[in-house]
Amino acid sequence: MIRVILKSTLVALFAIFAYSSVAASIAPTLGGMVDGNAWLILAIVLPCSAYTFLQKEKLAKALGELETTHAELATTHRKLAEKARRDDMTGMLNRESFFAVLDGTRQHASRGALLIIDADHFKSINDSYGHLTGDKALLEIAAAIRRGVRAGDILGRIGGEEFAALLSGATDEEALQVAERIRKEVEQIRFRPDERTVPLTVSIGGIDCEAGATVSDLMRVADRRLYEAKRRGRNRAVLEPFQAAA
Ligand code: GH3
Ligand code: MG
Ligand code: MG
Repeated sequence: MIRVILKSTLVALFAIFAYSSVAASIAPTLGGMVDGNAWLILAIVLPCSAYTFLQKEKLAKALGELETTHAELATTHRKLAEKARRDDMTGMLNRESFFAVLDGTRQHASRGALLIIDADHFKSINDSYGHLTGDKALLEIAAAIRRGVRAGDILGRIGGEEFAALLSGATDEEALQVAERIRKEVEQIRFRPDERTVPLTVSIGGIDCEAGATVSDLMRVADRRLYEAKRRGRNRAVLEPFQAAA
């Protein structure tokens, strides 16, 4: 408010000065004289400029508030968009987002590997202990998978008890190491929904993401290898080509 009064006073003083200067130079040439009533301008200029400055300040304040709200909305939008990409339970990418990321890597021929990780005999945990306990077991498995991958690897929950890991830049050897680490991390979980310890294990199928292979090519082979890992007795990883049983 003080700023508005100061600015308006300055404008009014300037108006008086300008009026007086103009009047002093023009009036004598017209045969008149300056009457000294220039201060009356104050009565008009002061409230008018005060009103204008007040409105300007209000507008600036409203604009500032608008910008803050806009920034908050943008942040909320970003958070919501990120949340929509994730599986509520594990925080990993959901199926759709994981495949979108995988598909994105197909555009440029970057090295890497894809692992499909499926909990073994999970139905029996639900059947024996109930769905809620099953959920807790799933969370433990998800945490073990996180411990098993490298920083920067991308994780997704692509089915109920099925996860996927995209190991960017991994060689065959690194992919095998990560798969083994995940398998062991899950195996080492001590899951005790009651006085008994319930063993948790996963089977893993994996493939090297070679250039030119589509998402469905990769998934088909990784799935086949996962099935082979199950067939060989579960709690194991199959990443190499194998001779399918006749
Ligand atoms: P396999 O070793 O052959 O994979 O056996 P499995 O029992 O794990 O496989 P199956 O496909 O027969 O059953 C999967 C089970 O996973 C059945 C389903 O109820 C359970 N499941 C899937 N999603 C969830 C979930 O979000 N929470 C819980 N508690 N269970 C789930
Ligand atoms: Mg399973
Ligand atoms: Mg499954």
